[in-house]
Amino acid sequence: MVRLGVSFARIVQDEDGVDVTFTDGRQGRYDLVIGADGVNSALRKQVMPEFPGPKFTGQGSWRAVVPRLRENSTICMGRTTKAGLNPISDSQCYLFVLDKREGMDFIDPVLWPEKLAELLEEFGGQVGEIRDGLRAGTLHEARLLYRPLAGHMIAGPWHRGRIVLLGDTVHATTPHLASGAGIAIEGAIVLAEELGRRHCLEGALLAYAGRHYDRARLVVSASGRMGRIECEGGSVEEHTRVMVHAQQALRAPL
Ligand SMILES: Cc1cc2nc3c(=O)[nH]c(=O)nc-3n(C[C@H](O)[C@H](O)[C@H](O)COP(=O)(O)OP(=O)(O)OC[C@H]3O[C@@H](n4cnc5c(N)ncnc54)[C@H](O)[C@@H]3O)c2cc1C
Repeated sequence: MVRLGVSFARIVQDEDGVDVTFTDGRQGRYDLVIGADGVNSALRKQVMPEFPGPKFTGQGSWRAVVPRLRENSTICMGRTTKAGLNPISDSQCYLFVLDKREGMDFIDPVLWPEKLAELLEEFGGQVGEIRDGLRAGTLHEARLLYRPLAGHMIAGPWHRGRIVLLGDTVHATTPHLASGAGIAIEGAIVLAEELGRRHCLEGALLAYAGRHYDRARLVVSASGRMGRIECEGGSVEEHTRVMVHAQQALRAPL
């Protein structure tokens, strides 16, 4: 059963199970609790209090839903800014922009259209047309979003007793390979397989992290390297090499 709009208020485990009190007042006892609550996981803070938290990667991420001007996807590499467009419907496009940033500074959303337009200054074509629309205030429907990028790769094992962590909680990547969600889903499949295969819970949880760690680390480290190359205005050849190598490795069966 899926219950929305509810979290855990208290989790206490012993050798035989985990007692969970939910924020809606319900309680339950479970054999296993899976924490998949994202990059800023509250459950991770409880079971891995020693982990200092995700680290800023040096880039900001801008996203917008904008009118679709042409047929194809496009990607533009600037000096330290990358911009691209992906069609998402007959009439709409998804704009993504990554820029070099000194820190996780807060940018007032009121300023987002102008800041984003400034970042797109060096580009022409469709991206340039989107910039002009942002400046002219004609893209009223554009749903803008800015977030500084942060990530981490936590060494396994990814469980403490009967609580196991999954996805961004333990391996949060930057979006350069567009594979963070894919690798999180893969982790869930590996976890389910190992739980189905073994009678011993501890063995299954160890095997889950053991099988999944290298592939998750590949996504995080290759994406991180691509981001650093973009920040440094580095080698396009290396950028392509890192991406192709990672994509080929990820195509290998688990
Ligand atoms: C800008 C950007 C672009 C990206 N683009 C891509 C892409 O193109 N392709 C791709 O594969 N990946 C992409 N990713 C990565 C992808 O979004 C993540 O890797 C993926 O969403 C991780 O899934 P998750 O389930 O681990 O965490 P999340 O998707 O973050 O899900 C966590 C869930 O837990 C909930 N939650 C949080 N705290 C609590 C709590 N205390 N109690 C209860 N619930 C809670 C949240 O509401 C959320 O629903 C991108 C990431 C970024 C930042």
